[in-house]
Amino acid sequence: MSAHAAFNIFNYETIRGVIKAAADAQQWIYLQTSASTVKYYSAAELRNLIMTAAKGFDRHLFKIHLDHCDDLSLIEECIRCQWDSVMIDASHLELAENIRLTKEVAAMAHPENILVEGELGQIGGEEDGFEALKAMKVSLGDVQQFIDNTEVDLLAVGIGNKHGYYESADPKLDLELLKRVHQMAPQQKLVLHGGTGIPTADILRAVKMGIHKINISTELKDTYLNAVDFHQRSAKRHNMIQLVTNTIDEVKNMALEKIHLFAGGNA
Ligand code: 13P
Repeated sequence: MSAHAAFNIFNYETIRGVIKAAADAQQWIYLQTSASTVKYYSAAELRNLIMTAAKGFDRHLFKIHLDHCDDLSLIEECIRCQWDSVMIDASHLELAENIRLTKEVAAMAHPENILVEGELGQIGGEEDGFEALKAMKVSLGDVQQFIDNTEVDLLAVGIGNKHGYYESADPKLDLELLKRVHQMAPQQKLVLHGGTGIPTADILRAVKMGIHKINISTELKDTYLNAVDFHQRSAKRHNMIQLVTNTIDEVKNMALEKIHLFAGGNA
């Protein structure tokens, strides 16, 4: 079994670095765009930027995905601009309301052949304004009802995972719960948020339990920031093209490692 990496890109260098890694591994990935990134560029301009950064690479190497979003008008904008996949995050609402909104998004997206990601339980920490102080685990009783009533394509589940770094090097992810969700709905593609800091052994176990997509944001940002910092302290600090190529290379190396790991060694 094998999962696809999903990276929260935000500029030319991060897009280019991630696509180069996908091309090297010959494994397709998700280029994730946060709601605030889409708002900043506009969906049309962000898509143009992605297609420019992807010039020369096979279009099948990436799917453009909208990460956590509860703004239906922004989701509509991404659908109009041909995103491949959108996430409606209504996990903070009552189950009935979460189902209603996810179903509404599926009704907009599916006729355009666009995938829909929904969420059950809550991911702890903060990602682009989506903040849950405490991670909330998915309730098993909700899973089948959610799937049957929403026709969701990708289901993000809370299993004690969180955005950002974990307090300990050994975060207590409830992989038993993940296993039970997978047994209950073996055909359902599951998503693991909060990929930064999850130990290799847990990643490999999660991939065996139906995880189809693993999100990486914080580690990508830190890889980029560290490359900028390194460049700034180098003798060639005013060589801006060197800065661009260094950041692309560092992002590519990090992404390649993740793609191989998430593919369970199969990429
Ligand atoms: P991390 O920031 O922990 O990598 O989480 C990313 C994520 O889940 C984006 O939705």
